[in-house]
Amino acid sequence: MDSKRHHVVVIGSGFGGLFGTKALKGSDVDVTLVAKTTHHLFQPLLYQVATGILSQGEIAPPTREVLAKQRNARVILGEVTEIDLAAKTVVSNIQGRQSVTSYDSLIVAAGAGQSYFGNDHFSEFAPGMKSIDDALELRGRIFGAFELAELAQTEAEIERYLTFVVVGAGPTGVEMAGQIAELAHKTLRRDFRRINTRDARVIMLDAAPQVLPPFGAKLGAVAQKSLEKRGVEVILGGMVTDLDERGLTVQFKDGSDRRIEAATKVWAAGVQANALTQTLADQTGAGLDRAGRISVNPDLTLPGHPEVFVVGDMMALDNLPGVAQVAIQGGKYAAKEITRRVEEKPSQGPFKYFDKGSMATISRFSAVALVGKVHLSGFLAWLMWLAVHLLYLTGFKNRFTALMHWMVTFVSNDRQERTATVQQIYARRAIKKLKGGTASVASSPVEWNSVRTRLEAQALEEARLTDAGERGVHTG
Ligand SMILES: Cc1cc2nc3c(=O)[nH]c(=O)nc-3n(C[C@H](O)[C@H](O)[C@H](O)COP(=O)(O)OP(=O)(O)OC[C@H]3O[C@@H](n4cnc5c(N)ncnc54)[C@H](O)[C@@H]3O)c2cc1C
Repeated sequence: MDSKRHHVVVIGSGFGGLFGTKALKGSDVDVTLVAKTTHHLFQPLLYQVATGILSQGEIAPPTREVLAKQRNARVILGEVTEIDLAAKTVVSNIQGRQSVTSYDSLIVAAGAGQSYFGNDHFSEFAPGMKSIDDALELRGRIFGAFELAELAQTEAEIERYLTFVVVGAGPTGVEMAGQIAELAHKTLRRDFRRINTRDARVIMLDAAPQVLPPFGAKLGAVAQKSLEKRGVEVILGGMVTDLDERGLTVQFKDGSDRRIEAATKVWAAGVQANALTQTLADQTGAGLDRAGRISVNPDLTLPGHPEVFVVGDMMALDNLPGVAQVAIQGGKYAAKEITRRVEEKPSQGPFKYFDKGSMATISRFSAVALVGKVHLSGFLAWLMWLAVHLLYLTGFKNRFTALMHWMVTFVSNDRQERTATVQQIYARRAIKKLKGGTASVASSPVEWNSVRTRLEAQALEEARLTDAGERGVHTG
């Protein structure tokens, strides 16, 4: 890389960050992409990892590999903890190792996390669906629940293990509920001896009055009917007020409560923008919305900082939804704007989002899709879903292996990726209990240097004692 060239720092290797970086390929700039994970995650297929259809590698190729041929891009691992807009620097940390990276232009695309609406303690018993860790933990919990049901001693215990509750009736909730129902009612039905997996209850609940609110009433009703046909109980207008290891309590608008005993809970409701929006708001005075997204100018920059772009799930502009296309188009727009500035060309004008439509699968061969004013459901919508996901999965290898795994699932109803390890189920919770989190299980470079100094001094002393004949084997 040419150190004198305009330097673009990109935070995040998700849809906004990766597509923004790729769009800078032919530009006369150097790019440093900083992300806290080593992969680019295709979040829309996380539910398939959680339910044993795909492996994590198929939806999360290494960012380094994706960008290997892009000579002007460098990838560094680290969680960004500070952005100093005045000094134009980004501070990132990994295992006690700190990096400070200066920029001329910055694209912030650190996405969003799960929101438990002020009840963060729910997360211990109801993992969200935002990361590979989430999906693998859920896989362990879902398949593990059937195992524990097989061992349970009482009917009540069996019922609790065989009750699965998905909180949230948006696309992720619908996809998870549909897949768990297929697992219980079809895939696993011959695998157990004492329990009948078809007795499993799969409940999807939401405080909203309809399923899939962004898809409109008609498609929402189609999705609900289709789920119910597949054995999913849909509870609407109910808010989760309490959630623990054994179940959850739902409160309805009329004030009544209902307790549901359920070992497995999945949280697919609510998102909260990455906390970095707070530091950006503090430094610029830009407003944050209820989901913590920061208001940006029509060209996706921050007030008073034309060199800083915020894209994707972190930005608030014209009520644009938190979907992959908004992030992809935002990342590409920012990259183009930076290139035009470097080339001293005029701005391309404000960011314009092109809505390519939305879709959600309900189960094998069944989906709903909304493209402009066209409403599609059933097999045709599912074919569209298949084509779009194959097109957007990153990398030919991943497309090929995902297609193979889909064939197995679609043709035989089987799942190739049912393995869950003790680490996936328990290690994360154990690490959360450590005071310093993951940092407690790896020494920082500073600590390691002091260990090395001590060992070197010890070795020198051993050599001196041996040379002086005070220690060791004496010959002659
Ligand atoms: C389960 C699920 C299903 C979805 N399904 C669909 C769908 O079907 N269709 C659709 O259009 N959209 C879907 N979405 C939404 C879509 O995935 C997001 O809108 C999109 O990923 C947003 O892109 P982004 O670049 O803003 O953030 P992300 O893709 O989330 O990327 C954020 C990146 O930032 C990194 N990061 C986070 N914090 C830091 C930090 N402090 N320092 C460094 N790096 C950091 C992360 O590791 C990640 O690489 C789904 C989302 C989820 C969770």
